[in-house]
Amino acid sequence: MRKKIIAGNWKMNKTPAQAIELIKELKPLVADARVDVVFAVPAIDIIPAVKETAGSGIDIGAQNMFYMESGAYTGEVSPEMLTDAGVKYVIIGHSERREYFAETDETVNKKVIKAFEHNLIPIVCCGETLEQREQKIAVDWIRKQVKIAFFNVEKEDAKRAVIAYEPIWAIGTGKTATTAQAQEICSKIRECIAEIYDAQTASSIRIQYGGSVNAGNAAELFAQPDIDGGLVGGASLKADFAKIVNYNK
Ligand code: PGA
Repeated sequence: MRKKIIAGNWKMNKTPAQAIELIKELKPLVADARVDVVFAVPAIDIIPAVKETAGSGIDIGAQNMFYMESGAYTGEVSPEMLTDAGVKYVIIGHSERREYFAETDETVNKKVIKAFEHNLIPIVCCGETLEQREQKIAVDWIRKQVKIAFFNVEKEDAKRAVIAYEPIWAIGTGKTATTAQAQEICSKIRECIAEIYDAQTASSIRIQYGGSVNAGNAAELFAQPDIDGGLVGGASLKADFAKIVNYNK
């Protein structure tokens, strides 16, 4: 049985002081969650967030990292810095990073491998544009993204990974994929993992849906057989996020 995982992707929101304020508000509200709860916070908020969530059951995630160990890479954060700071998860290849920061399937693959080397669990993002969906090439596109992301990733590592299916047209638009659309692609992703590895790996890996998840649609989405939780942007920035986390209570 896969444990659901619900992650808030704060994106470029909340100063360290605001982060502490939000965590203080959310902590008691998600204390008895039946799912894994992750706050993926801006890099500058990681250290105070780890401190503030200590002992709460909430895990802290990063939103990105670089695939080199250390050195002359101005502005980057290394995997070792994340683990040393107490980070457990790291979002890799979010569509905003692909669009604005030249992230490619190849850099995603390097980062996924590096994350596992450092015992970080990657939340690997994939998803199609509206145009690709209309052209009916969404499944092929996502299969390609997943295959490259997991190239040369060991099976035992892949089992621990999280994949986030986020249709780009549903991110921050208020336009959620229908439950059937989300389930269909998540099941195709699981099939793809079974092809790369085997059925056991496919049944272990957790697949989230992301894109305008809110307190109103979470329960139906997360009830789907292949949707193991969500990656939540806008709705993770308020106390209402607790309603998403507690969708099954
Ligand atoms: P959204 O963002 O929930 O605001 O649509 C999701 C994401 O980009 O992770």
